[in-house]
Amino acid sequence: MRSGSLSYRPAALSPYLHVPFCQELCLYCGCHMTVARTYSPIASYVELLEREIELVTQHLPGRTGVTHIHWGGGTPTILSGDDLRRTMSLLERSFGIHSTAEIAVGIDPRTLTLEHVEPLAASGLTRASLGVQDLDPKVQGTINRIQSFELTAKVATWLRHAEVTGLNLDLMYGLPFQTTESVLCTIEQALQLDPDRIALFGYAHVPWMKRHQALLPEETMPDAIQRVGQNTAAATALLEAGYVQPSDPMVVRQREGRLHRNFQGYTTDEATALIGFGTSAIGSLPQGYIQNVSSTVAYREEITNGRLATARGVALTDDDGLRRSIIESLMCDFSVDLERIAPDGSKPDFKTELAAIDELARDGLVKRDGLSIEIPEDSRLLVRNVCAAFDRYLESGAARHPRAV
Ligand code: SF4
Repeated sequence: MRSGSLSYRPAALSPYLHVPFCQELCLYCGCHMTVARTYSPIASYVELLEREIELVTQHLPGRTGVTHIHWGGGTPTILSGDDLRRTMSLLERSFGIHSTAEIAVGIDPRTLTLEHVEPLAASGLTRASLGVQDLDPKVQGTINRIQSFELTAKVATWLRHAEVTGLNLDLMYGLPFQTTESVLCTIEQALQLDPDRIALFGYAHVPWMKRHQALLPEETMPDAIQRVGQNTAAATALLEAGYVQPSDPMVVRQREGRLHRNFQGYTTDEATALIGFGTSAIGSLPQGYIQNVSSTVAYREEITNGRLATARGVALTDDDGLRRSIIESLMCDFSVDLERIAPDGSKPDFKTELAAIDELARDGLVKRDGLSIEIPEDSRLLVRNVCAAFDRYLESGAARHPRAV
């Protein structure tokens, strides 16, 4: 997958740009990032990113419009305003950005300055996701992320003045010293900012993969029952506060059965070609997945020598594609009809999987009627356990996994 051009012409492109730098390390972090104390490694990374965009453009069959742009990291807004502006205009020149494109940026309020707001707004930013996680000082001190409510509120005001309409707040449960009460207290304060969306993530404790997480005191982390309690209480509070909002594009898509889920999470993005730029960035095509090299040194080596930075690719078999559709349907619609989901109308033999589903059905987690599977409302928190029945790679992998809730 290192050379050659895309063998089909996608209807739309969805670039993901990874910025693997932060000013400080949050101890719960599960991202691919490194701490940068000066701007020089960031400036040279931006040059590589731009070179990679040009390289990928040469491999595409013509100018294909962009419907979604996602900046993630790390901290995308560690880039200077000028560098953000320049990269966005290169994307526009290279691919063309649809006037209705969703342009989303993950923002660390601790590093955002007014200097960033104007270029972000001018580039058509439609969705700003502010990292918050928790507002309790003891939790913040333990996870090494000190961020006052006032700071988050100030950044939200800046973005709204700049007419960035989609404001998300990212919160977390399952962190050290969090209790149901403290999670609810954070939600109560977050609601004062009237965000358009709140994304609530469960902390994934994987110190065997992310060594710095071992610095968190495990004995202060909520156990599985407490995690479920925090998640359920938070979900109830958000529903009572009016989230889900019927007009939210994601809610509309879910209602219409057109919500999608990729490795970044839930999305309204319908582009079939997701192209990752930057170290470790993952791309997704109908034929499979590709991932860039993860070290900045290797990335520099590939890009400066005019080669794509792809480290590996996984081609999807028909069976993989079918399982991907089944899992996506369960995650997005909480139901799947196995008889109808096979693209060729075939009736796949899922004897083992259905036996696992029947076991879950005995515990009341799912309902099965022939080849039709549905997850009742009060079991949706455990949707991943239902999906696991169709994940061919879960059991065979030697990897350890974080909690499903
Ligand atoms: S700001 Fe985000 S990416 Fe950076 S260290 Fe904290 S959690 Fe990780």
